[in-house]
Amino acid sequence: MTDPRIAFIGAGNMAASLIGGLLAEGVPASAIRASAPSAERRARIAAEHGIELFADNAEAVAGADLVVLAVKPQVMKSVCQTLAAHLRPEQLIVSIAAGITCASLESWLGERPLVRCMPNTPALLRQGASGLFANARVSAAQRQQAERLLGAVGLALWLDEERLIDAVTAVSGSGPAYFFLLMEAMTAAGERLGLPHGSAVQLTLQTALGAARMATESGVDAAELRRRVTSPNGTTEAAINTFQAGGFEALVQQALNAAARRSAELA
Ligand code: NAP
Repeated sequence: MTDPRIAFIGAGNMAASLIGGLLAEGVPASAIRASAPSAERRARIAAEHGIELFADNAEAVAGADLVVLAVKPQVMKSVCQTLAAHLRPEQLIVSIAAGITCASLESWLGERPLVRCMPNTPALLRQGASGLFANARVSAAQRQQAERLLGAVGLALWLDEERLIDAVTAVSGSGPAYFFLLMEAMTAAGERLGLPHGSAVQLTLQTALGAARMATESGVDAAELRRRVTSPNGTTEAAINTFQAGGFEALVQQALNAAARRSAELA
């Protein structure tokens, strides 16, 4: 596949991680451009990534095959309305903004090939997880371009229905924070059991990393891995039984339901 020319509207955290991912995948810097209002941001991103930066969004999208809308949701409407007249019908628009639906984007930009995605923060380390939804105007080649873009910072999964973006938001979009919460709670519990703070932190974090790597690299599902380390009447079983008696699974379901509901409300 020849490298599509990609324009980023907005050059913040998420755009910078996508740009870094694309460059690491071998996309030449000359194929990537971006825009941002602040001169300081433009200078920093140009120095870090060697790409061309523009103050004017219209200049950035000229000649691009793929336009990534990477501004905050609050400014998306005005950015789209100003940009619409400068877009060509065959350009693929990829929005990474949380809570902005394809219907909203179409109302501001007109009917075009659109991909809406929900990435998450580990994209900063190229360990992200994204759900992608394409509208009916997106071609097979454009799907590949969008998948390559998000795939450059981690897992990119296609969704058949746009409403599933709310479920993706609940699982992976907000998900890193759930694991951070568990890490906080385990560290605090370890300290109450007598471990020095630093040791409780190190043991918790290395255990989280080890468990995540076992779950992703062993080819064995999480339930089976858990059964394998849970001997009858052992220490792990004592803890797991306590979690289950406290309604752990129902609580996780309630939490994810709340996140999905909130995601739908914000859209
Ligand atoms: P951010 O770091 O605040 O970046 C926003 C960028 O937009 C900045 O470079 C800003 O430029 C630029 N900008 C503001 N107004 C603009 C305009 N009128 N025209 C062009 N550029 C403009 O935000 P972020 O965290 O990268 O988030 C970007 C999008 O990704 C959001 O819609 C968010 O919902 C989505 N997202 C983020 C995450 C995440 O983990 N961060 C996860 C999922 C989805 P200046 O710096 O010059 O002001």
